[in-house]
Amino acid sequence: MSHWKLLLLALLIAACQPAQQTPFAATIPPTRNALVSEQISSPVPTAHPVASRTSTLPPSATFTPTFTPTITPTPTDTLTPTITPTTAPIASATPTDPTSDPNNTPPPTWTPPPPDPAAQIDDHYHFIRPIGEGDVNWIDRTYPYGGTSGGRLQVHHGVDLANPRGTPVLAAADGEVFYAGNDDTTRFGPQNRYYGSLVVIQHNFTTGDGQPVFSLYGHLERVDVETGQTIAQGMQIGIVGGTGVAFGPHLHFEVRAGDPFSFDATLNPELWIYPFRNFGTFAGRVSDPAGNLLYDVTLQVQSTSMTRYAFTYADDSVNPDPVFGENFTLGDLPTGYYNVTVSDNGRIRFQKIIYAYPNRTTWIDLELRP
Ligand SMILES: [Zn+2]
Repeated sequence: MSHWKLLLLALLIAACQPAQQTPFAATIPPTRNALVSEQISSPVPTAHPVASRTSTLPPSATFTPTFTPTITPTPTDTLTPTITPTTAPIASATPTDPTSDPNNTPPPTWTPPPPDPAAQIDDHYHFIRPIGEGDVNWIDRTYPYGGTSGGRLQVHHGVDLANPRGTPVLAAADGEVFYAGNDDTTRFGPQNRYYGSLVVIQHNFTTGDGQPVFSLYGHLERVDVETGQTIAQGMQIGIVGGTGVAFGPHLHFEVRAGDPFSFDATLNPELWIYPFRNFGTFAGRVSDPAGNLLYDVTLQVQSTSMTRYAFTYADDSVNPDPVFGENFTLGDLPTGYYNVTVSDNGRIRFQKIIYAYPNRTTWIDLELRP
C-alpha cells in the first residue's frame, strides 16, 4: 500500500475513535497500547495471568499500565501484604482513597497509590485455583458469578475456567470428598444431569457467619476420587470435560455454604480464591441513593492498557458473601489505577479512579445517581 493510502487509512481510523472521556486522555501516550482494549466478547487479556501466589512476577509487561512517566513506584507495588483478618465492619472496608475526588473529577496526573488499607479488609482466600498454572487458571469474564452473559444464559451460580477436555482439575483446599460421581439421581443443580460428573469437597473452615464451606467441580470427564476420601489442596480430583449441561469442555467451579445440595446456597468463588501475585480483586455494592442493591448493572473498569467489565448480580438467586455483602466482583486485576464508570446511554452515573491493591480485595461502594 502506498504512503498516501496508509495516511488516509490512519486518518480514517483516528476519526473513528470515540472521543476520550476518561482521565487517561491527558496521560495516554499516543501509542498503539492506548488504543488496545479488551472487548466484552474477548475479555481475557492477551497475556494471561498464569502466575500464582508462589510465582515471582506478573507475567507480562503488557499488563502493566503505562503510567511510568507520572507514577512513582512505591514499596506497596511490590510487597505481598500479610492478610490480617479483622472483625472490622464492612462499612470500614472502604479505603481512604486520596486519588478520588468528591466531585468525581479525575486527578490531573497519576499520583502514588494511597496507603494500603489491608488491615481493614477481611479477606478469606482459602482456595487456590482449581486449575494448574500451565493451563487456563483464570476466570471467564464473559460469564462471571451472578451474570447471564448478556441475557443469553441463566444466572451463573459459579465461575468457569475454559480448558480443554482432559485438563487436570485440582482440589482448591484441604478437605474431605462429600460427593464424587454423577448427578443422574442425586440432585445438585436445578435439575438432574446438570453438572454431569462432579466432585464436592467439604472443607475444614467456615463462612463468615459460621456455615460449612463446600467447593463443587462440575462437568468433569472423569472423577479421580471417592466419596469420603481425605483430600489435600492441589491434589488432582478429576479431569475437565463437558458432561451435564455444558456447551463445551470447561471446569465449572462453585463455592457453597451450609447445604451442599442447594443450588441456591452458592457464594462468589472470586472472594475465596487467592489472587495472582501482584493482582487484586475489586468487590463492591452498586445501589441507588436509597441503598437498594441494583441488579444487572454494567461497570466499565479501565486502565491505560485495557478495559474490562463487571456486572452486578442479575437476581437474588446468588448470594452476597456474609463478610462483604457485595453484589459484584472483578478479579485478576493487575495492581494499579482503574477508572471505574457506570453509564447509561452515554450519561455517566458514576465515575471514580480506584487503585486495585495487590493480593487482596479492594472494596468499592457505588451509589448511582438517579
Ligand atoms: Zn459454569
